[in-house]
Amino acid sequence: MPAVPKKRASHARTARRNKANSRVELTGVTVCQKCGHLKRNHAKCIHCNAK
Ligand SMILES: [Zn+2]
Repeated sequence: MPAVPKKRASHARTARRNKANSRVELTGVTVCQKCGHLKRNHAKCIHCNAK
């Protein structure tokens, strides 16, 4: 028997989960000081490096 949710998740619960997931995705990403594009922490900026 597959795992099926017994109750429909409320809008607030879904929004809270999506907000937490989006926060995880943004960790380790910062704005480049030179060009302003998003870049990975401790990694070369691909926009500055392309020139
Ligand atoms: Zn850059």
